[in-house]
Amino acid sequence: MREKIDLNKAKCIFCGGQLSFDGDEMASHVHLAYDGDKEAVIYYVRCKQCGRDYEIVDPTKEERETDYKDYWQNTPT
Ligand SMILES: [Zn+2]
Repeated sequence: MREKIDLNKAKCIFCGGQLSFDGDEMASHVHLAYDGDKEAVIYYVRCKQCGRDYEIVDPTKEERETDYKDYWQNTPT
């Protein structure tokens, strides 16, 4: 599931700068814990002011079905 992320909601936690979207990819392509998970996504975000990169990673399939199920079950995939 690739949600549209609203970067107006967030600022850099280091310098307070504005963040810009820098791409996304399937979490399974990057982290072994996501092997076989076709829905989890990693979003890449970069601060326009200090250049720091953020990785925003969806929870694993197991976490989506347990700890965070109230959120994920109500979100269309
Ligand atoms: Zn920054």
